[in-house]
Amino acid sequence: MSANKKLLVLPGDGIGPEVMGELMRVIEWFDSKGALKFDVDTALVGGAAYDAEGAPISDATMAKALKADAVLFGAVGGPKWEPLPFAVRPERGLLRLRKELELFANLRPAKVFSALADASALKPELVDGLDIMIVRELTGGVYFGTPRGIETLPDGQKRGFNTQSYTTSEIDRVARVAFDLARKRGNKLCSVEKANVMESGELWREVVQEIHDQDYPDVNLSHMYADNCAMQLVRYPKQFDVIVTDNLFGDILSDCAAMLTGSLGMLPSASLGAPDAGGNRKAMYEPIHGSAPDIAGKGLANPLANFLSFAMMLRYSFDLPAEAAALEAAIETVLGQGIRTADIRLPDVPPVSTAEMGKAVLGELQKLIG
Ligand code: NAD
Repeated sequence: MSANKKLLVLPGDGIGPEVMGELMRVIEWFDSKGALKFDVDTALVGGAAYDAEGAPISDATMAKALKADAVLFGAVGGPKWEPLPFAVRPERGLLRLRKELELFANLRPAKVFSALADASALKPELVDGLDIMIVRELTGGVYFGTPRGIETLPDGQKRGFNTQSYTTSEIDRVARVAFDLARKRGNKLCSVEKANVMESGELWREVVQEIHDQDYPDVNLSHMYADNCAMQLVRYPKQFDVIVTDNLFGDILSDCAAMLTGSLGMLPSASLGAPDAGGNRKAMYEPIHGSAPDIAGKGLANPLANFLSFAMMLRYSFDLPAEAAALEAAIETVLGQGIRTADIRLPDVPPVSTAEMGKAVLGELQKLIG
């Protein structure tokens, strides 16, 4: 059996293919080094897949995703496909991947590279060196709970309703991902809910505490209400290491934390499923930005969020922390040299293109790994 890692690359729409193109050079370079061998398959997703194959992700591509060791996803969507019916909109491709790969844990790091501390809306001293990880539960909670709907009441008013619900096992599996991550980082985990006003939050707190007491007593665990967490994220974000929270609070808090870093073009993410018998998890890695139709095709996109997503893949899917750290260090060096795409440009310094940024990072990586 081949020992090569099977990657499925889904560039998608808009700037997706541009940022993925630069990453492919990095992957090919790692591959040429020999230490790290990949079998890379590429397929369509989103609007591009709809145009060519009639669906935002074909069954054949879905089958490849299910067999891959990891999926790299670019971005989907754009004005061309907005008039399409909901069921075949580009975003449905992403949702199908998340659902069928059962990706229940969404990892959203918010890391501030020193060279970019000025880009944050907060004072540089509050965010310089910031490195937090938000683990959001991705497949349960109020976005999926039933009953849900809009009904008409006897008095003619309408009533919209959703159900927040979590089972012990749903909380358990995402909490374990967060505890394991905390052990590999600063050994601190903050679990976030609204146990003061919601029963689902009460259960969440109880389960997380039990897992801690039984299996992770060495991890420094705290609990925080979601509203306080939102305040603390903008007051003193460096107090956090890993945060674990539900789907709704995670949606909001991870976007809030993302903005501490100042730029959409710098933010990666990972979505993980349950480990199989061999301990391998289904996993998908993607930048958090969209397809940026306003700059697509112009060579202006920042490829670094996608590079950082690949670094997460090296770390979390393939347990290659040294290679991941080398790629992150190469990015840090390039940023420190003032090499910037337009979204993070320095005043008075002309920005570089997507390709130039890719080349600069690869150059530094070659110096580091040789
Ligand atoms: P967007 O993230 O695509 O763009 C928001 C702004 O940030 C734009 O001004 C864009 O130019 C800029 N930007 C984003 N990524 C950048 C990068 N790497 N480098 C430089 N600048 C960058 O969000 P949007 O404009 O709200 O959505 C555009 C399309 O993308 C829509 O169709 C939306 O549905 C889709 N979308 C897809 C995903 C995904 O594929 N995961 C996520 C969000 C939005």
